[in-house]
Amino acid sequence: MKNFGLYIHIPFCKSKCPYCDFYSMRAYEGQTDDYTACVLEYLEEWAQRLGRKADTLYFGGGTPSVLGGENIALITRRAKELFGVDGEITVECNPSAVDDDFFTTVARLGVNRISLGMQSAVDTERRKLGRQADRQRVEECIKSIRLSGIENISLDVMLGVPDQTKESLTETIDFCLKNDVPHISAYMLKLEEGTYYYNNADKLNLPDEDETVGMYTLLGDILESAGYRNYEISNFSKEGYEGKHNLKYWNCEEYLGIGPSAHSFIDGKRFYYPRDIDSFRLGCEVVPDGEGGDEEEYIMLRLRLADGIKFDAFRERFGKDFPQEIVTRAKPLKQHGLLTVTDSSLHLTRKGFLLSNTIISKLIYG
Ligand code: SF4
Repeated sequence: MKNFGLYIHIPFCKSKCPYCDFYSMRAYEGQTDDYTACVLEYLEEWAQRLGRKADTLYFGGGTPSVLGGENIALITRRAKELFGVDGEITVECNPSAVDDDFFTTVARLGVNRISLGMQSAVDTERRKLGRQADRQRVEECIKSIRLSGIENISLDVMLGVPDQTKESLTETIDFCLKNDVPHISAYMLKLEEGTYYYNNADKLNLPDEDETVGMYTLLGDILESAGYRNYEISNFSKEGYEGKHNLKYWNCEEYLGIGPSAHSFIDGKRFYYPRDIDSFRLGCEVVPDGEGGDEEEYIMLRLRLADGIKFDAFRERFGKDFPQEIVTRAKPLKQHGLLTVTDSSLHLTRKGFLLSNTIISKLIYG
């Protein structure tokens, strides 16, 4: 049986960003310690239920650094004891919500990867995104992370944000290159219903779709020529620095999510905890979310990766050949440079990544 990935959702943030619809809130006095105790109880319960090992641990949010270094360390230590986690351990951090000694505290317990929510290296853009730390603070964080001994650093970059241009994006990319981070996640801004951005989109001076597509292409071109690989639609890394926990999602492998709104895929079943911290505190049950991991889902997820689908691996997993009708549907798209299909594999090109939803649906449903 393969090891699974363990995800811990920390639903706290220092303040709410105007574009965000993740489940997060400001913590009241003492709430972070209570929440930590509660997560530890769930860990015990799941360890007994599953009796299996995890090889990655990921603290996401929200802003996990708001929990404080000692609490992250407590959860990390217990997760290692209960699940034998011995691989990649990531904590998402917000440069404006992290103490200087945070990184040393968590590194001591085995955290070996930090994902830093920078979004942009241009201060005016960051302010519009509701981010309080300036560029200098981001740079200080990167230095503190390295001083703690953690070298696996990922920076988040957002595309299509208010007032962004190719020139300002170039400034952000230059910042990433100058700081020599081995991993960059680049997400296009999505207007999520109910957020301030969604309700005020006409006042935001957002780049249009073509401009945002141009930015994605520019980013990809610069990063690839600087030695990064666009190994997943939104992710770029130097060799060996791919995000191992997130790869489990795209490889359709198992993961257990603990925390309100956290999703799981274990033993062929999908389930999640409700977006409600109070019921989570009271020890709620997970909500079933159907079966997972069938051929269609596998194809959809794997095509997000530059490696795409290897037909041998498909055969090994499903005990049958890769569907010939998908190969037939892929051939005309190959002529447009959107994908590559050979006798042994199928994968989208970077041009194809931009139209991934349309292409994947065409391949699967015809
Ligand atoms: S820090 Fe992240 S999770 Fe928190 S409000 Fe901002 S975007 Fe959302």
